[in-house]
Amino acid sequence: MIKVLNEEKHAQYMLEKKKFLLKRSMSYELRILAKHYIYNEGLNRPKTREKLIEFCKEDSDKFDEIQCRNIINNAVEGAKKYGFVNIEGINITQKELDKIKTLNNIRHERVAFIMLIISKFNNYVYNFKHQDKESEYYLVFDKLSDIFKLAKVSGKQEDRIKIMKRLIDEGFIYMSTACNYKVLFIDEEGEGIIELDDIREFVLLYEKYVGCKVIKCKECGQLVRQKNNRTKYCDECKKEIKNKQNLKSWHKNKDKYEN
Ligand SMILES: [Zn+2]
Repeated sequence: MIKVLNEEKHAQYMLEKKKFLLKRSMSYELRILAKHYIYNEGLNRPKTREKLIEFCKEDSDKFDEIQCRNIINNAVEGAKKYGFVNIEGINITQKELDKIKTLNNIRHERVAFIMLIISKFNNYVYNFKHQDKESEYYLVFDKLSDIFKLAKVSGKQEDRIKIMKRLIDEGFIYMSTACNYKVLFIDEEGEGIIELDDIREFVLLYEKYVGCKVIKCKECGQLVRQKNNRTKYCDECKKEIKNKQNLKSWHKNKDKYEN
């Protein structure tokens, strides 16, 4: 599943924040970090392993070095095999957006948007561009559940199938095997109208395009739905800021009591 657009930037961000940033993606993030140590800092395998362990310990004092030995080793070997995947941005054209809008149902539109983005991402990374007699297409080979998670469209399996069936019937996609979809509404010639440069919450980019209030978190830059004028941060940063404030006031009170 598409997780990060620019791995090099992500590694730097992890080091800055001194913690893992994605949910349930420890192996993947360790691999990105290993790439940083190997390709940017020129470290060898043992030194890279050392650095990864250091990072994990800093992230959590519960980190078990012995139990995680394989994860660390695999991260280093994986990083040795493939370099950084750095995509600066994915462009979406007017024609593609117009096509998505014909669905006239925000849930369906979101799914089509996500499939378009994933297929473009795959095309950049793996060069999965194909052509058959009828048309040119890019491939998506994610599980339905992952596609719908990214699209933030909840619902039962029947709902999902209904949406996919509509996309197939109306010529958006073609299903070749169970988890293998051809995205057929790619516009290669058009100029980019919106550019995706951050993968976090990227479905909100589409919401913004159709007129919903979406801002960038003032702290981390992630897209956030603006609930009201006071919304400035994403939930995570909001929590972090609040914790810091609590700590500050605790210190202040502590001084007061001690005096
Ligand atoms: Zn944030």
